[in-house]
Amino acid sequence: MTSVLRPRSDIRPARRVAVAERHGLRGTLTDEAHELSAEGRPVIDLGLGDPAAHGIPAPPTVLATLHERVDDARSYSDAAGHLTARTAVAEHFRTRLGLPEVAPSDVRLGNGVSELALLTLQALLDPGDEVLVPDPGYPMWSAYTSLCDGTAVPYPCPASHGWRPDLDALSRLAGPRTRALIVINPVNPTGTIWPAETLDGLAAVARTHGLVLFSDEIYDGIRFIPGPHVPLATRAPDLLCLTFGGLSKFSRLPGLRAGWMVACHPPGVGRAYLDAVTSLAALRLSPNAAGQYAVPAALSAPALRDAAALTEPGGALHQARSAAHTAMAHQPGLQCTPQDGTFYAFPRLDLPPGTTATHFARRLLREKSVLAMPGKQFSNDDAVSTHLRLTTLAPPAQIASAIERIGALLTEMWTEHTNRGRAKQMK
Ligand code: PLP
Repeated sequence: MTSVLRPRSDIRPARRVAVAERHGLRGTLTDEAHELSAEGRPVIDLGLGDPAAHGIPAPPTVLATLHERVDDARSYSDAAGHLTARTAVAEHFRTRLGLPEVAPSDVRLGNGVSELALLTLQALLDPGDEVLVPDPGYPMWSAYTSLCDGTAVPYPCPASHGWRPDLDALSRLAGPRTRALIVINPVNPTGTIWPAETLDGLAAVARTHGLVLFSDEIYDGIRFIPGPHVPLATRAPDLLCLTFGGLSKFSRLPGLRAGWMVACHPPGVGRAYLDAVTSLAALRLSPNAAGQYAVPAALSAPALRDAAALTEPGGALHQARSAAHTAMAHQPGLQCTPQDGTFYAFPRLDLPPGTTATHFARRLLREKSVLAMPGKQFSNDDAVSTHLRLTTLAPPAQIASAIERIGALLTEMWTEHTNRGRAKQMK
């Protein structure tokens, strides 16, 4: 008898992936929204943070450069990225961000912040090492820490602190296994901008406990309050501080996967670690070359002016934010202060007892065709379970309509709750 080899149906994924999946980024709601759209049911998307998908145009000079360089972009680049692109990033940091020492050799390019975050954590963490991550915060950092067999330790940035970190609590969470402190500023999902004194407090914790600072500043160009962006690295010149940024948000080019990591440090500090990052980066040969050709153009004065205009009165991001907050002000069940930066609003919902924003977001998609992200996707804290993250990128009329639908669903849920209470009393 000949035996027949059958493929195994029970192939077990690595445990570390299951841990990372708990911090899932897009979630099942996004897939469901795509299915609904494919079935011909239009969904208002206040879920993903992709300015290009919402039709916000890219700077014309950048698009012209991309068209010109498409043939050159067929080759690999250096693993750290093309010198011209790294030079443009270094100059941006020196002349506009108050870090006069940054040289092209301090800059590494990658396929978005997402790839550089993974490379830099992989090069740092041994199993069981701990990383302090902001809560609420963008879940990629916790997911990657788990993927590197590390432990993400959330530090509280509660609404009661204006979504800023509780520095005493943070200090108590740092221990002998803690290696790094992650900062996201401006903050996804709350839209808060942490001021210089908060950054000083974070730097002090890193100094006391010998931590590497990772500062995700991908939203640095999107601010609605006066004053310049303050990079964390300017407040911690005596420490190793890695600053992450790129073209996905203010340049409206997320599909190009062009990001950078700039390592600021006193001479010699962190050399072995940064060499390890270089070795890991070399394994993947090169970041996307087309994206790199866009970097000098995106950091040119006309492109930056174009980006800044988006957040000024009349600009697309300013209008979307105003539409969201005007509409929310008319909905008594939604409480939200206008965001300082980013294109996210993070309202608290006045929900009937026993329900959460996760439950609400599911109903919102299925019954009202609006995609929004539940707060718990960004947090371990139950206090955040009544918050919803709304992306303020869609045209103002769509945002206003989505928020009206949110208000209508809240009213319906309260009516259902009252009716249930009455029915119970009648029994
Ligand atoms: N960091 C934060 C805080 C984000 O919100 C995002 C995307 O939404 C990223 C990083 C990903 O950036 P990139 O497109 O450069 O990978």
